[in-house]
Amino acid sequence: MVHPNPKVAVSVPAEIQSRLEVAGLRRTLATRAVLGLFLARPNGGLTHAQALAALTARGLNINRVTLYRLLDRLAGCGVLQRQTDDQRTWRFSLAPLSTDASPDVAPRFECDACHRQFPLLDASEPTRIATHHLFQALAQMGHAGTRVDLAVHGTCASCVEPGAAQEPRA
Ligand SMILES: [Zn+2]
Repeated sequence: MVHPNPKVAVSVPAEIQSRLEVAGLRRTLATRAVLGLFLARPNGGLTHAQALAALTARGLNINRVTLYRLLDRLAGCGVLQRQTDDQRTWRFSLAPLSTDASPDVAPRFECDACHRQFPLLDASEPTRIATHHLFQALAQMGHAGTRVDLAVHGTCASCVEPGAAQEPRA
């Protein structure tokens, strides 16, 4: 069955959207269609050729080379994962989302002088993105990172300049 209109309502999870944004990937019709394809089958892997056939069946007129590049870019930014099978054919599937890893990521600052710890909640988002890049680098080496413990050490405001702390702490 061929759908003349390839526009399908795809709700893209926030984490995938942020990965696309970090990678500077525009959400074109082709990108949305490819994401829809993989979101519809979270467990199944697709080869280049199978993805092309599935998209064509959905009515998307996409160039083979364009699709190959798009799959590679989606794998590069961690939205898809890529594995070779026994026949040494690349198979693409949706990369696992790490939503429950996020709370771990909030970095903290520890003063080496007074040993107080300050959570850096404002830095969570950039840290999450940096963490994602670290995991990606690990994945390319075949390692599976699960958690990042990030602490910045230094001297806190009141130790740098004793008496300058704006608010007394309990
Ligand atoms: Zn201090």
